[in-house]
Amino acid sequence: MEHQTQNIIKGIAAAPGIAIANAFIYTKEKEIVNDDPIVDVDEALQNLEIALTQSKKELRKVFSLAVDKLGEKRAAIFDAQIMILDDPILIANLKERITKEKKVPEFIVEDEISKYTRIMNASNEPYMKERSHDIEDIKNRIIRNIRKKKWQSKILNDVIVITSNLSPSDAVLFSRVNVKGYVTDFGGLTSHAAILSRSLNIPAVVGLHEATSKIKNDDLIIVDGFNGHVVINPSIEQLKVYRQKIEKLAQHDSELGQLKNLPAQTLDGRDIKLMANLDVSNEMEFIIQNCANGIGLVRTEQLFEEYEEFPDEDQQYNVYKNISEKIYPGEVIIRTFDIGGDKVLPVDLHEPNPMLGWRGIRLLIDNPDLFKIQIRSILKASSLKNVKIMFPMISSVSEIEESKKILNEVRNELKDAKIPFDTNIKVGIMIEVPSAAVMTKEFASQVDFISIGTNDLIQYLLAVDRGNDIVSKLYQEFHPAVIRTLNHIISEGKKSGALVSMCGEMAADPFAVPLLIGLGLDSLSVSASAIPLIKKIIRSLHFSDLQSLANECLILTNENEINEKLHKYFNSHVQDIIKNFIGS
Ligand code: PEP
Ligand code: MG
Repeated sequence: MEHQTQNIIKGIAAAPGIAIANAFIYTKEKEIVNDDPIVDVDEALQNLEIALTQSKKELRKVFSLAVDKLGEKRAAIFDAQIMILDDPILIANLKERITKEKKVPEFIVEDEISKYTRIMNASNEPYMKERSHDIEDIKNRIIRNIRKKKWQSKILNDVIVITSNLSPSDAVLFSRVNVKGYVTDFGGLTSHAAILSRSLNIPAVVGLHEATSKIKNDDLIIVDGFNGHVVINPSIEQLKVYRQKIEKLAQHDSELGQLKNLPAQTLDGRDIKLMANLDVSNEMEFIIQNCANGIGLVRTEQLFEEYEEFPDEDQQYNVYKNISEKIYPGEVIIRTFDIGGDKVLPVDLHEPNPMLGWRGIRLLIDNPDLFKIQIRSILKASSLKNVKIMFPMISSVSEIEESKKILNEVRNELKDAKIPFDTNIKVGIMIEVPSAAVMTKEFASQVDFISIGTNDLIQYLLAVDRGNDIVSKLYQEFHPAVIRTLNHIISEGKKSGALVSMCGEMAADPFAVPLLIGLGLDSLSVSASAIPLIKKIIRSLHFSDLQSLANECLILTNENEINEKLHKYFNSHVQDIIKNFIGS
């Protein structure tokens, strides 16, 4: 028995499910470089050229957004990075050494560029030391790009990825090679990588701190994404227990599958609109299979991961049109790019506080060309009249006014050009910043609908970084301030006549669902994989009881009391075998 707990490390359960597979240690920051010999010098030189071009492309992608905004001093950092990539002396040196020494280009790049960083690191000037990180970044970027083509074949299928930190793009890239699970040292429950794991239906445990030091390549690993446990080299008994759980889960899934064509309706007849969040385009089939009543959030910023450059008007139009056609007659809410924060930008903008920085609507309003192209694509894809448009990170009325002004300009351009679109397209905003929550009535009266983004709302309301595992215990969705704020948003939003829904992760938390419905929400948008379970929960509840439950929660002042009350309620009202997996 002793042995059975010694090999378990515990972290944060970020995406449910159980996976058993071999470990693949993914070290992102530092590429391991060997001085392997090469035979084909021309091919190596060509690989270097391609990698340099690709690295420049990535840097320019951010440049095109950032250069006006960051001011000369900070923009100069990127200038310097691109200049290094263009430095004729460096490039000539690299090429000459590859030709003479006949070593793989990544080794030559590592060796040559490290000379610069060593000199800078030795300096007493803090500024020089700081810059050496930028040079290190470039070095890693070039090496990664040299290896890009080989990268996918290097990682085996069906492994559990163990890494210190997972970026959203890593999560998507790995899913393409059928990764079975994710285990990370850092990261929180609502980091975008965790959200993506849930969307991709891949079990994940994050914030383990010691995963990369305790786990070795090829170790057999069990990821228990229900409890946040990771078992390293399990015993025969542990394997047996978990294999039985996997079998039970499959039974559970098929049981839930039988609910497919039934409505998400409470026992006393209240219908809840249950929609899906769309994070990656290949989720579409999965969403349709799970019979969502529509798509309540398209995270369009994900397109940046799928296309190399900013997706142009035609590319975006095709993506949006395809979604609208496939989900028809259901509706789809397309959210304009929420770039910034912990999302998408391929290089660090060196913002001191990215979550409080240039993100979402702020960045779009500052880049009207980019914004307009996206709006045009959305409008052009709206001719089936099932498309709605939504703006992220709204924190003031003037941002709504400015966004609507830009939207109107694009409408008029399309009308003039006689391009068809839905002239009555519904417009909405995310409520995810406390200022928007406080002013829900005024904000909601400017639009047709609002959608509550609890992932950000909780982080900004409680001052707890959503992606930081060190403070993850303080990220409390049942904090009385959160519950009362939600109550305020829902009641004020409804008074103003706007439709109110929720697309943050809280909507997919089984313990939160009774409360949310009791507070009056009539529409929830969750990851497609969560739809059957949430439907089952809704179908086991009485709306009239839930209103009393919500009122009881609203007078409590301690998050533990609310948490306990909701767990008790769930356990006594929802029969679900999922309970067998939690707390084991
Ligand atoms: C949210 O903040 O709750 C939300 C849905 O938006 P995102 O997670 O994309 O920031
Ligand atoms: Mg958000």
